Amino acid sequence: MAQAFAALSAVEVMAYGLLFFGGIYLVFGLATWTLTRHVLPALGIGRVLDPRPLQPGQLRRELQQSGVSILIFGLGMIFPWGLLQLGWAQLAERTPGQVALEILALVIWNDVHFYINHRLLHTRPLRRFHLPHHRSVVTTPFSTYSFHPIEALMLGNVILLPMVVHDFSFWSLLSVPIFSLFFNCIGHANYDFFTRVSPMHWFAASRRHHLHHACYQGNYGFQFTFMDRLFRSVLPPGAAAAQIQQQSQARARRDAGSQAGGHAG
Ligand SMILES: [Zn+2]
Ligand SMILES: [Zn+2]
Repeated sequence: MAQAFAALSAVEVMAYGLLFFGGIYLVFGLATWTLTRHVLPALGIGRVLDPRPLQPGQLRRELQQSGVSILIFGLGMIFPWGLLQLGWAQLAERTPGQVALEILALVIWNDVHFYINHRLLHTRPLRRFHLPHHRSVVTTPFSTYSFHPIEALMLGNVILLPMVVHDFSFWSLLSVPIFSLFFNCIGHANYDFFTRVSPMHWFAASRRHHLHHACYQGNYGFQFTFMDRLFRSVLPPGAAAAQIQQQSQARARRDAGSQAGGHAG
């Protein structure tokens, strides 16, 4: 597989890249949507985190912005492929055990890389490149790739540095966009899958990223909490409760008012 990948032409690499990223975005997004909107609620498992409604046109915007990110990620496959052509990186044959270790290292690196770039995106000079992602206050499984192109470039380069310092297996590198999107779908699902685990548990990642979107500051980590604990940016579990309650009550009052107005009219 490694040789087959390196032997592709530049155009083929980009075409397969587009198909791959477009495909996983739609499959993972639809699966998470079906699971969290239909299957799990019907089974009585878990609960919705933020009950506020989506903004008008939110899904369309998320799909449009994600389309641009897919274009960047897909065409960007030229970079890892280019490293191989230049001989700056190589792919190696690995045993299943070695592949597992490489994937573990990449999972940890992915959290470090995400945290650094995410913190940078929250600084004043780069803020404007992150706000398109934060327009989704209540997130959906389609918020996952909903970025400004600059943010897509910053997050999309995650495998380049590891590739030049170590000869990974093709399969280990291929796992990065897959596990990353899997965690990303969980993070943006707006659904608490395991209501009984503690807020810092690995399985509570969706609660933490929901708080990041509701509060904007804090909880910058991806799947794990080690970077937020290291840099003291953990949000308390109830950080968004007052805000959500206030807006939900205001909405209920508005709805009641418009109903009364409707009756009077
Ligand atoms: Zn953010
Ligand atoms: Zn997000």
